[in-house]
Amino acid sequence: MRKAKENGNVPKHYYRPTLTTCPRCGAPLRRRWTLWDKYLVTLEGRVHIFSVGYSCSRPRCSQARVIYRSVEAEQLSPKGSSFGYDLIVQIGRWRFWEHRTLDEIAIVLAAKHLPVSRRHILNLISDFLALLHAAQPAKIEAQRTYFKRHGMVISLDGREPEQGNEMLFLVREANLDLTLVAETWYSSRADLISRQLLEPVKGLGFRIRAVVSDADKNIRRAVETSLPGRPHQACQVHCLCEAGRPIFEADRAVKTDLRRDIRAKVRPISRVLSQAPQDNLQDAVLSDYCEGLREALRADGLSPFELAGLKLYDELQRLETSLRRCQKKGGIPSCLRYSISRLSAIAMPSGTPNWNVKANG
Ligand SMILES: [Zn+2]
Repeated sequence: MRKAKENGNVPKHYYRPTLTTCPRCGAPLRRRWTLWDKYLVTLEGRVHIFSVGYSCSRPRCSQARVIYRSVEAEQLSPKGSSFGYDLIVQIGRWRFWEHRTLDEIAIVLAAKHLPVSRRHILNLISDFLALLHAAQPAKIEAQRTYFKRHGMVISLDGREPEQGNEMLFLVREANLDLTLVAETWYSSRADLISRQLLEPVKGLGFRIRAVVSDADKNIRRAVETSLPGRPHQACQVHCLCEAGRPIFEADRAVKTDLRRDIRAKVRPISRVLSQAPQDNLQDAVLSDYCEGLREALRADGLSPFELAGLKLYDELQRLETSLRRCQKKGGIPSCLRYSISRLSAIAMPSGTPNWNVKANG
């Protein structure tokens, strides 16, 4: 239970119906009372939501007793839940699409100062799957004409964000990138895959032209049972990620080192700049450089081809060149010249980083 004072600073959001006049007589609607209110955790933080009811302001109107409410407020979160849909969907995405672990998700949420415990995260993952189940039939139905004409190429993927934890199995239509079935289990047995994933997809009644998967042996067996004779290709992205893993990991290690070094060095300079008088043009330029550095540090990679360490290194080189040019132009007071030379020294910390790729079988 939260204490009242913890709720004191929570921003209040009031929702009213979109109608402003009575649909019966045209008189303006008047605010009546709060229909419900609740504290909601969204990606933007905790908010106190009020849904305010309105009714016709003319007492003799035949619809004077009808209360109008905000549809938008009702759509912020599932009924009875104190977590917003935006948060639920984001957690599902982190978990199943970006393969993040519970701990990683908890860290991101804590950094955003959102009060979501590990237990909550687990519950929200279940909510996410329930939403996915509920939403997909309509989306599949909307593509009926396409599937009738072109059939389906299905991709089958088992994801296990954490070893020993439950796995998510996704069957998607590869051309439209549409999720057809999603299930979580603790086992990846071939008969389960066949019965719970492939049979329901066959049951949709469209021609299945081919299957793409990571070629896991249970998946291969299940496809042979349920879809005999259908072409089954190993997913090229999986193969490339697998082949590029040593490089990707070496690059990530370089990025982490660079990030740690540079953050520690930029911090004192940023502090000095933030305390300098506001109207100084040179300070403003240097602050921009600091912001540029911080922005470069935020870059993230994506296996197999987007290497964040390399990207960061290029970005630092660009910043260094630019700072040196700035220094040469002169016209900068000596105290700032000192800051500039320190900044450009930071931008290129120790010559060339060492991408030490370990060959690990
Ligand atoms: Zn009215």
